[in-house]
Amino acid sequence: MTELPEKLQILAKKYRVIVDRNPEMADHNQGAHAGTQIWLGEFDDPDLEVVAFFHEVGHALAAKKRFYPLGVGMCELSMEAVAWELGFSLAYDDGYRWVYDSKQMEYARKCFFSYLLDADATKLDVEQYATPAPEED
Ligand SMILES: [Zn+2]
Repeated sequence: MTELPEKLQILAKKYRVIVDRNPEMADHNQGAHAGTQIWLGEFDDPDLEVVAFFHEVGHALAAKKRFYPLGVGMCELSMEAVAWELGFSLAYDDGYRWVYDSKQMEYARKCFFSYLLDADATKLDVEQYATPAPEED
């Protein structure tokens, strides 16, 4: 089993979550969480592992901030979106700059759109759903 990068342990302390490598709790190239416990599967790309980590922290933060006072969100897709956006904000504040066309954002969009009911992750045309990149001046 690959050891977790030290920077993720440091970030976990900062955000008051516990992070462990656990391929039984999280699939390959994916994260999972329960409360403030985060599990990361084995990752092929350490850059994408950081993205997954921040997303799971986003889930933990959403619960802490009472985004779901009744304990449930409108739907799973909505809760995923909240966790992604919160995670991106935290990552940004920690110096990560993931522009629209980066592999990090491609990974995030693919994960997010896998929650669509009609999604077949192996065939998913992410660009069909994604917001277009902002035009550059
Ligand atoms: Zn999620």
